[in-house]
Amino acid sequence: MIFAKHALLEAGWAENVRLTVSDGKISHIAVQAQAQAGDVRVDTLLPALSNLHSHSFQRAMAGMTEYRAAGRDSFWTWRDLMYAFVNRLTPEQMEAIAALVFMEMQEAGYAAVAEFHYVHHQPGGAPYADLAELSKRIYAAASATQIGLTHLPVLYTYGGAGAVPLGAGQQRFGNDVDRFARLVEDCRAGLADLPPDARLGIAPHSLRSTSPADLAAVLATHAAGPVHIHIAEQPQEVRDIEAWLGARPVEWLLAHAPVNADWCLIHATHMTEAETLAMARSGAVAGLCPVTEANLGDGPFNGPGYLAAGGAFGVGSDSNVLISLTEELRTLEYSQRLRDVARNVMVAGEGSVGATLYQGAATGGAQALGRAAGAIRTGMLADLVAIDSTSPALCALTRAQLLDGLVFAAKDGVVTDLWSAGRHAVRGGRHIARDQIVPAYRQAVAALLAG
Ligand code: ZN
Repeated sequence: MIFAKHALLEAGWAENVRLTVSDGKISHIAVQAQAQAGDVRVDTLLPALSNLHSHSFQRAMAGMTEYRAAGRDSFWTWRDLMYAFVNRLTPEQMEAIAALVFMEMQEAGYAAVAEFHYVHHQPGGAPYADLAELSKRIYAAASATQIGLTHLPVLYTYGGAGAVPLGAGQQRFGNDVDRFARLVEDCRAGLADLPPDARLGIAPHSLRSTSPADLAAVLATHAAGPVHIHIAEQPQEVRDIEAWLGARPVEWLLAHAPVNADWCLIHATHMTEAETLAMARSGAVAGLCPVTEANLGDGPFNGPGYLAAGGAFGVGSDSNVLISLTEELRTLEYSQRLRDVARNVMVAGEGSVGATLYQGAATGGAQALGRAAGAIRTGMLADLVAIDSTSPALCALTRAQLLDGLVFAAKDGVVTDLWSAGRHAVRGGRHIARDQIVPAYRQAVAALLAG
């Protein structure tokens, strides 16, 4: 039982809300209720977000790539450094890093994560004895933190547009379609070790790392569940795909794949107006990662055009250079303001920017993960976050202004409690396994740097 002084229900704000959670789901909601002995008491209860895009191992290289070397640094020079880093990681280190990342996400207010998992093999490219060894390390990190996991094993077959062979830095990622199918089946079998809200999807890495025939083959065997793909992060990527396939990436994908509400297009950054409109109409979720997109110099998303067309979106922390839900949402809005020299951009028509961003990302993120979540409603998963509306950053605000305060004026420290499908993982602002996870992470990073 959870008792909240204030709660954002599907119909709006309510006071003195008593929530019953059973089997990970919200089974009953009473408003204007009395708290009872044994209830977990919180100030303000919100639906918790799903983080729709993460490569957890990249967290350990945060801060290592911000030094300007001779010549011009770009996404592609960053990627070379990431490849050098990934070639040193052991399975134990990947698990320890993922646990820290998932813990930080929960403390920031994310109840669930879609892990876009592309490191599969040993350095050099030989598979582990268990093909799904590294996926199972991600599962172990999810178990340790109790986060809701949507696991996305990645199909990564080629080194670049035109089906060129994998490069030296990409050997750990590679699978052809047949071995990928075996990996997915092994990942599916492993799901039995996770709670029932865990999900499995697939992720063709990008158009540049697959081929039209391979993509069609993989999609033909994918019965149901999320499909995520990196789509148009960099102008060079758009040019390469156009030169190879004769169309821009989003344009090509929408014309050649059955893109629908199961799909999430990560970094739909570089789109024409026609692509923006067509993508919004497809029902797919735009997977936006504003902090990473700013860090990597990707460019801003076409927010106004996409929202006007009714497009679904959510946010992810991608490279995990910083894990902060509030920072992610405000960077999304600020990227739009800086480009347009305008204020309050990410709203179609009139309304609260904070509410549009938070509630849009809650429903879009849950859709992208295949989770019945994103709103506080009977029957939904109990993906819930409690914040302290009496904190100095928020105490002057009305309920109607609270999400604006959360997005623009607060830090993640206002989060007091978090439940992932009813699992109460953050209490008093701290993850319940923090004292085990942080030392294990420090040890893993020390071994990594010494290795
Ligand atoms: Zn990514």
